[in-house]
Amino acid sequence: AWPRCLERLEAELPAEDLHTWIKPLQAARRGEDMAVLLAPNAFVVEHVRERYLARIRELLAYFAGTPEVSLEIGALPKAAPPPPARREPDAFARTLAPIDDGFQTHLDPHYTFDNFVEGRSNQLGRAAALQAAQKPGDRAHNPLLLYGGTGLGKTHLMFAAGNAMRAANPGMRVLYLRSEQFFSAMMKALQDKAMDQFKRQFQQVEALLIDDIQFFAGKDRTQEEFFHTFNALFDGRQQIILTCDRYPREVEGLEPRLKSRLAWGLSVAIEPPDFETRAQIVLSKARERGVALPEDVAFLLAKRMRSNVRDLEGALNTLAARANFTGRAITAEFAQETLRDLLRAQQQAISISNIQKTVADYYALQVKDLLSKRRTRSLARPRQVAMALAKELTEHSLPEIGDAFAGRDHTTVLHACRQIRTLLETDGKLREDWDKLIRKLSE
Ligand code: ADP
Ligand code: MG
Repeated sequence: AWPRCLERLEAELPAEDLHTWIKPLQAARRGEDMAVLLAPNAFVVEHVRERYLARIRELLAYFAGTPEVSLEIGALPKAAPPPPARREPDAFARTLAPIDDGFQTHLDPHYTFDNFVEGRSNQLGRAAALQAAQKPGDRAHNPLLLYGGTGLGKTHLMFAAGNAMRAANPGMRVLYLRSEQFFSAMMKALQDKAMDQFKRQFQQVEALLIDDIQFFAGKDRTQEEFFHTFNALFDGRQQIILTCDRYPREVEGLEPRLKSRLAWGLSVAIEPPDFETRAQIVLSKARERGVALPEDVAFLLAKRMRSNVRDLEGALNTLAARANFTGRAITAEFAQETLRDLLRAQQQAISISNIQKTVADYYALQVKDLLSKRRTRSLARPRQVAMALAKELTEHSLPEIGDAFAGRDHTTVLHACRQIRTLLETDGKLREDWDKLIRKLSE
């Protein structure tokens, strides 16, 4: 299950963290049913134990289909010198919300509407989450489903809604669970023959927030239980908020009846943020953390790191850590130097031919149509979109882009870019196509 766990972590963690902490780990077995992770040195052991081990356990249990796994972490035999004996409390460590009368919300109080940057890509999602928080249980947004790619702020919004509910109604029983937690709690209850208790737990909940329901796919029993829980809460007018990494209809292995229930309320897509929003997000994170991040560096990061806010944040963390360590200020040059590999990787991911292929597919054309000289409108517009995307998403110059489009002149490319820029302001359909294409290309 380790490779699948790794795959999942890849989607969850900033590339830098993955590279530094997770990739060096080796999975091994000890005895019958104990798994161990071996880290290159004790420092990594400590860090992974503190930050990631619980999550890794949860994922391994999930992939193994068992309620729990026993997993330990240790250093590889040829262990390095002892670690620096410091256990700095992590400023951003995710703490659980305070407990009242034994009820745990599992909400992370750090994520609120206040520190959520609004942009065109997430405006609707934010508004919907806010509404649900203000009028929990209202049929207009029950259930509320937020869906969209990884690292785009779904969990943040979900926490924000939960925290806002509790700020307005202290002590309100808002329960946040990742779908794997729901799954393992259920498995445990089955094993302990305590399903009644499992069910009763949810009756007391006033709002239920379940994160990443795509993980219910293929887990029939879990879906069945969830379905019943869902109905009970829904009938009791308790607010339900769910997230999914896709539109649920597109998730294979989710039960049709569950899918149709999800459509009863409000479903909102969260799109990847545009450049402006990305820049604002990274600036706001920097402020929050007391990191002196000049605007030009924020713009550099925002320009390069398009696909996912989590990676953007990871890049900021790397910069902050190195600045701290070296005592140097964060400048554009410092950023280029520190994030060289990362920035290059982001840049290489998208090529002009990749863009041509994606645009052609999107408009149900052939790449050769895009490159042809024909000027019918149905070809000219997609062609312009492809050129503008090439300008936006790659480092190629106008002449280079012209070359890649069957030797067109650079002025043609320039014209295309300007035209598309102008149209994006007024043409809603084009805007939608454009955003979808950028999203496809940044995945
Ligand atoms: P998802 O659940 O969609 O995978 P998360 O909610 O975990 O994504 O977001 C990943 C990171 O990006 C979090 O640290 C979150 O705070 C941050 N983030 C995403 N969108 C925004 C935003 N609009 N404003 C502030 N932070 C954001
Ligand atoms: Mg999430």
